[in-house]
Formats: sequence, C-alpha cells, structure tokens
Amino acid sequence: MSQSRITRRGALGAAATGAGVAALPAAAEAHRGHGRRRSLSADVVVVGAGLSGLTTARALRAKGHSVYVLEARDRVGGRTWTKHVRGVPVDFGGQWIGPGQTRIAALAKAVGVPTFKTYNTGLNVYQRLGTLKTYSGAIPPAEPAAIGDIAVALVALDRMAKEVPLDAPWTAPKAREWDSQTLETWKLTHMTTDEGRLLLDLGIEAVFAGEPRDVSLLHVLFYIHSAGSFENLINTAGGAQESRFVGGSQTVSKRVAAKLGRRVLLGTPVRRIVQGRRGVTVESDHAVVHARYCVITAPPALAARIDYHPILPAVRDQLTQRMPMGSVLKVHALYDRPFWRDTGRTGQATSDTGPVKVTYDNSPPNGGTGVLIGFIEGEEARKWGPRPLAQRRAAVIAQFAKWFGPAAGSPRAYVEQNWMEEEWSRGCYGAWAPPGVLLDYGTALRKPVGRIHWAGTETSTEWCGYMDGAVRSGERVAAEVGALL
Ligand code: FAD
Repeated sequence: MSQSRITRRGALGAAATGAGVAALPAAAEAHRGHGRRRSLSADVVVVGAGLSGLTTARALRAKGHSVYVLEARDRVGGRTWTKHVRGVPVDFGGQWIGPGQTRIAALAKAVGVPTFKTYNTGLNVYQRLGTLKTYSGAIPPAEPAAIGDIAVALVALDRMAKEVPLDAPWTAPKAREWDSQTLETWKLTHMTTDEGRLLLDLGIEAVFAGEPRDVSLLHVLFYIHSAGSFENLINTAGGAQESRFVGGSQTVSKRVAAKLGRRVLLGTPVRRIVQGRRGVTVESDHAVVHARYCVITAPPALAARIDYHPILPAVRDQLTQRMPMGSVLKVHALYDRPFWRDTGRTGQATSDTGPVKVTYDNSPPNGGTGVLIGFIEGEEARKWGPRPLAQRRAAVIAQFAKWFGPAAGSPRAYVEQNWMEEEWSRGCYGAWAPPGVLLDYGTALRKPVGRIHWAGTETSTEWCGYMDGAVRSGERVAAEVGALL
C-alpha cells in the first residue's frame, strides 16, 4: 500500500469514531494474515500482545473503545510462554507472582487462573569455591563477616532506594551522583568482603540477568523501590518467587486474548508508524490499521526497531538506543518425580560458579513430575549462549547432579530457552538503564509523542520489569488514552 493511500484514508474511518467492535469489518479476524495487506480502523491500535498490550486492549474495550492488537509473534503472551513438555506445562519465560503484585493477581483472578506456592520445604544448597553447604532461609551460609557485609549493604540500598521518586527517579536528591556510577562501583566502595560481594552479584544477576557493572546505581535503587525492598525481589516465601500459575503464566494472556477475539492479530509485526494531523497509521506485514491513537508496549530496544514518520524526538530515540535487554537462558530438567524432596531438599541451589547459578523446584502442583529449573544469566549467558546445546546441557546436568545427587544426572528431558535469540524480545527479563540514562533521558520513557503512547513493564513505576508491572502499565496507558478519546 502506498504512502498516499494511507494518508488519504486517514485514521478516522467509520469504525474509528467510537462505533465499537461490532462495526469493525467482518474480515478483521485474529489470524496470521497472508497475501495482500488488509486495511482496518479502530480508536486505538496496540502494538504487542504481551500482558501489557492485552491489558491495554481489555481496559479500552471495557470503556467501549474499538481496538486492534498487532502482535509480531504467532502467539500471545510475549515474555510469558508456556509449553507442554511430556504433558507438563513448563514456563519458558516469566512465571512467579508474589505479595504486592496485586494487578497481575487481579487480572489472573478475573480470567480464572489460580496460583500455587513454589515448593520451598527443606534445605537449600550453597556452592562456593567448590564446597557444598546446605541451609534454610534466604541467606546462604557465608562467612560471618560476609553475612554482616551483605546485611549492611542491603539495608543501605533499601534506605537509599526510598529516596528515589518512582515516577521520576531523575529528581532524587542524589540522582546525579547515583546515576554517574554502576552498582559495581558502589559495591567496591561500600562492601569489604569477597563473599559479601559475591552474594550481591548473585542477587543482581538473578534480578536483572545482568552484572552489577552493567546497571546504573540509580536504576537499581529505583527498581528496589519499585518492588518495595531488595528482599522482596530475591525472596521465595514472602517475595517475588512465592507462587506460580496453575497451567503456566501464559494462560492469563491466552484467556484475555480469547475474550478480545478477532481484535488480536498474530504474526503481524509492526514495521512503520506514520503520524498525521488527524490520526496514526500503523503498518504491519499483513495489515494497515488507521487509528486515533497508538500504544506501543514493546520494550525500548524493540520499539526502536520500528520506523517512525516523522522521526521521534531525539531524546526519545536516544533513550531507546540506551536501554539494553538482559542476557538469560532458562533451562529445565524433567524427572519422573521430584526426588530431591525425599532427602529434604527444596530444589533451590545458589552457586558461585556457572553456567547455572540459581535453581528452583518447578514441578507442577501435584508433584507428579519433577522439574528443576536453572537460570544462566548475565556474563554466563553471554559465554554459554553461543556454545553447542550438547555442551551446555552436559554442563548444566553435571551441576544438577552435584547439587541434588546422581539421580539428577539422568533427566527424562532437558529443554531450554535462550531469550537473547528471540527476535521479538532480544533478551530478558527486561531492560535496564546504564549510568546517565535515567538522568538525561528518563523523562522520555512514558511521555507520549503526538498520538503515540508508551507502555510495557519497563514504563511501570511499581514492579517494573515484572508481569505485574506490565499489567499496571497497560492500565495506566489505557486510562491515559481513554481520557483523550
Ligand atoms: P512483552 O511480553 O515483551 O510484550 C511485548 C510484545 O510486543 C511481545 O509479544 C512482542 O512479540 C511484541 N512486539 C515487539 N515488537 C513488535 C512489533 N514491531 N510489532 C508487533 N509486536 C511486537 N516476571 C515476573 O513477574 N515473574 C517472573 O518470574 C519472571 N521471570 C521471567 C523469566 C524469564 C526467563 C523471562 C523472559 C521473563 C521473566 N519475567 C518475570 C518478566 C516478565 O515476563 C515480563 O516483565 C512481562 O511478561 C513483560 O510484559 P510486556 O507486555 O511488558 O512485554
């Protein structure tokens, strides 16, 4: 379709004037479009059918606005993705929900997806310098000096985090000082023991899928405040890893999408967005949607790959050049049963050595099949990701056997997901800000550009980077755009 045809047709076709979904063309069905591009109209076009985009569409529909959701992948859920392996639902992406994550909890409840507690009974394993120890609770059995070191550091980080305004971290009294250094710099200045520093590294890798040297201290403090405390981020009981969704987390997205029906178009990557005086035209491979407003829920690095006309303001464009995605592979080993429970193990291990440094028991609620998951994060992901699968599998399984006994050496199945190689994510769990980004570009994170509004978990002030943040961002942007319609 030519540019002139797009412009001539404009964004305010009959169905876009509030006539609602019933007035939309019958051909506008959720499908993987082929052949000639269809021309559609709606009040709002949403880019991305992850939790953020689906929440946006759901909330706008509830207010009677017409909407289309264009999703590049041939599935909904984005960074949540549940696949069945040997009949067991396995979450390849986001999975846990914890206290305070009230918006994802409410959405899951509304669409009838219950949760169950992460298995957390017994002893955890801690590996350091080749030696194994077991422990209970959240803190590994490090040397007393290291325990003191990490405890003081976490109290300090929590205290500083409270000084960071959630809606404008760049206005914190010490924003300039904190955004001029990485967490690594702060760690080396304020922590004194190798093992205490290791424990902080492990926590940061688990939360960001990056290294302390990657992330601005200001961004880490914002993130901590956004979740309430550092402990909330890393704890199982009482923290972000407390519970999981029955049937897998993608079920939530699937149910929301099912209600949206024909308004969700899969296999429809958005390539180009043209803004005019009267509306916005969103061009994908298979459909062109004319709308009054556009909501982009893709993370900054993916939003940057869309071609905008006119080009975006420089601060917004440069922001998206500066917020990289994390580096992570999530691996799963499936066994006949969760045998580690027999010997009083939780299935949780923490290690100073990769490829996997953190594991959990990810068995289904009935414990019928045993599932161990491990995360290969940050530097380990960058090192191990390009290696052959067989090499990685052997290394991971050897670690599992070392931590949970010889039975762990013979899984029935081993499956993994390298999120860095996902075309429509380019890394996970989310994006972070290196030094200098929040301070100079932070204002562009949520500020609309004409008729384009921004959502996605990266824009959330609470539980940023999490499923809960994604839902909150969808609710926020739906209210923002709804007020304009
Ligand atoms: P996304 O899910 O990324 O949705 C954006 C959508 O936009 C995607 O579907 C993408 O395909 C689409 N898209 C991108 N570009 C285009 C384009 N040009 N055109 C059309 N569509 C496009 N969170 C938790 O709360 N708990 C956890 O335990 C947890 N663990 C995680 C573990 C892993 C391995 C991963 C990968 C993530 C984890 N997360 C977790 C993070 C959580 O999954 C995300 O924060 C959340 O799903 C993000 O939702 P979103 O809608 O903001 O973004």
